[in-house]
Amino acid sequence: MTRPTHLVLNWSNLRHNYAQARALADGKTYAVVKANAYGHGMLACAKALPEADGFAVACVDEAQLLREGGITQPILVLQGAYDAGEWQKACELNVQLVLHHEKQLQDRQQAKLNQPVQVFLKINSGMNRVGFTLDQVDAVLAQLAEDSQLQLQTVMTHFSSADEPDSPAFGAQLSYMASRAWPAPLCLSNSAALYRSRPLKDSISRPGIMLYGASPLLEKSAAELGLKPVLSLRSKLISTHLVPKGEGVGYGGDWRAAKDSRIGVVAIGYGDGYPRHAPHGLPVWVAGKICPLIGRVSMDMITVDLTDHPDAQIGSEVELWGEHISVDTIASQCRTISYELLCKITPRVKRLEHTQA
Ligand SMILES: *Cc1c(COP(=O)(O)O)cnc(C)c1O
Repeated sequence: MTRPTHLVLNWSNLRHNYAQARALADGKTYAVVKANAYGHGMLACAKALPEADGFAVACVDEAQLLREGGITQPILVLQGAYDAGEWQKACELNVQLVLHHEKQLQDRQQAKLNQPVQVFLKINSGMNRVGFTLDQVDAVLAQLAEDSQLQLQTVMTHFSSADEPDSPAFGAQLSYMASRAWPAPLCLSNSAALYRSRPLKDSISRPGIMLYGASPLLEKSAAELGLKPVLSLRSKLISTHLVPKGEGVGYGGDWRAAKDSRIGVVAIGYGDGYPRHAPHGLPVWVAGKICPLIGRVSMDMITVDLTDHPDAQIGSEVELWGEHISVDTIASQCRTISYELLCKITPRVKRLEHTQA
């Protein structure tokens, strides 16, 4: 047996979730596959979604991997070009660029574009990370209108708080975008915004996390939203043994057996991307039953309390998150978000792909 730590990818669930996003969208739906598709495998995800209207990635390097892998749909680069060379490369790859800063227009002057590049003009509507404000945007629109090699495709913004049901920021950002007329259609929604009512028509939405079956909303679970997990992180028990009352388990011995206990060791740790700061009691699915995590997470192993699960044996199947335990449950108990846990799975974890329904 090789190391039993692996992830199972369910592409029919990815397609189900994409269909959910599209049903909520007003217009086209670009699947966000940046950061290796939130740890799921960028090219594999893109290939599993032939029906996608387009894809969004963070950088030109990621777009290049998709084009070299044979992806022909539109690809939007969310950070745009970093320098003049990237403008040229984006042009050669025929990918769409976000324009969010004056510096990018200066770089464009240095680039020789032999065909027009489609541009998504990014507006800072209140997140204050990247984008032009309404004060700056007229000058940019004038430059775009003069440049025959730049084609304004959409006017885009990104919401800071669409996941919070009562945040006034979402409405304020929408009002900001509605406060003037634009020379191109809008590109607005991330996953969370797709579940909010939007008075503005959104010509291209950009869902990410919901495609992978995690909830984008603080107040609702993925299951309640009808989303299905794409990735299950799995391993097996590699040892079981009895620990007498009063003994500690693992580094630091900071979990102590309150009674004679039966402990299981699972072949997964932070070297695989399981969070090291996971708290005692975190649910671990072991052969059909939820067992509590105990002891500190090591690089290659975790320990679970099997005292109430006498059937669990060496070789029993373990799921860390996925089909039986939502990644959102693990993330919130580890005081992080599903996005981070998914992105942090390491290359040591083998991938098994399930294509059939
Ligand atoms: C990552 C990203 C998205 C997708 O966000 P989700 O919360 O995963 O749906 C959309 N737009 C931009 C600009 C992004 O950076």
